[in-house]
Amino acid sequence: MPLYEYHCDSCQKDFTLLQSTQVDQTETRCEECGSENVRRQFSTFAAKIQGQPTMRGKPATIDDYPGKKIPNLPIPRLRSEL
Ligand SMILES: [Zn+2]
Repeated sequence: MPLYEYHCDSCQKDFTLLQSTQVDQTETRCEECGSENVRRQFSTFAAKIQGQPTMRGKPATIDDYPGKKIPNLPIPRLRSEL
C-alpha cells in the first residue's frame, strides 16, 4: 500500500497517510484540522525507496554519487586471465 504525503493548506501541516490506490483522494482530510483543503505530495516516497539524498532539500548532483566520478581505471586483468 503506498504511503502518500499531504500538505494541508489550511494549517500548513504536512502529514503522511497509508492509502490504497482505490481511495478517492478528494475525500482525504487533514488529520490535524480536518480540512479538506489538502494537497498530495509526490516526491518523498520515491526518494525514500531509492535511498537518494534528496531529503537535504537540494537536487541531487554528481557530487552525491561519488561512484560515478571514478576516473578511467586500468582495465582489470581478470579479462585477459580468463
Ligand atoms: Zn490542516
